[in-house]
Amino acid sequence: LIRFRGVRKEFASGTVAVEGLDLDVRRHELLALVGPSGCGKSTTLRMVNRLVEPTAGQILLDGDDIGAGDPVALRRCIGYVIQHVGLFPHRTVAQNVATVPRLLRWDRKRTTDRVDQLLDLVGLDPATYARRYPHELSGGERQRVGVARALATDPPVLLMDEPFGAVDPVGRRRLQIEFRRIQEDLGTTVMLVTHDIDEAVQLADRVAVFSKGGVLEQIDDPVRLLAQPANDTVAEFVGQGR
Ligand code: ATP
Ligand code: MG
Repeated sequence: LIRFRGVRKEFASGTVAVEGLDLDVRRHELLALVGPSGCGKSTTLRMVNRLVEPTAGQILLDGDDIGAGDPVALRRCIGYVIQHVGLFPHRTVAQNVATVPRLLRWDRKRTTDRVDQLLDLVGLDPATYARRYPHELSGGERQRVGVARALATDPPVLLMDEPFGAVDPVGRRRLQIEFRRIQEDLGTTVMLVTHDIDEAVQLADRVAVFSKGGVLEQIDDPVRLLAQPANDTVAEFVGQGR
């Protein structure tokens, strides 16, 4: 579904964040991106929704070069969740979740029905939470709202950058399991950046291990990542993550 071909990103500062990246993301899969800090995982995600433009190479979505189209239209079909969710502080939970439907001018009933359905989906009772403001939520609840907002218009592609980071271990596990169920139900294609090797192994269909600036190994059977790391660098990284 998404193909990176010889993608390179050099920032104005001269930092080469990504170099010679070739990566395929298959339709409906959850692909985890793991690797040491600064190896270009977030930059890779941000090139998919064009928050960052590649310096060279191509990214194809369904065979089309995403660089050739309209970035705003592109972002409408790609959800994006980051660690510090970035909810609008002066908008209620319901208004936050309704951000994209409003941009698309959905009518009121369709929007409120969808908001209630999504809040239920992520385990937040609409009667309790819809009218609250972000500062009235726990970190984990905020993260759930972020997931609900990203799913509002059923985007075929979801980019997640350490989305469960701020949640305590028990809540995190629950949220991971619920998220995986939702993702499988909707058939959403997900690129998930995580530092948590266990999260990658448990949630992902495949894992891409990044080294400085490129994919070191794509692993089809995540459990194998732990059992037989392909080389010393992967082994070292997996060891560090535990
Ligand atoms: P982490 O696991 O710590 O989140 P990462 O793999 O997500 O790391 P990136 O955020 O993609 O890493 O950064 C890759 C490299 O690019 C780093 O050296 C970083 O300092 C640099 N970089 C990232 N964004 C910018 C920017 N806007 N301008 C200049 N350099 C940047
Ligand atoms: Mg990052």
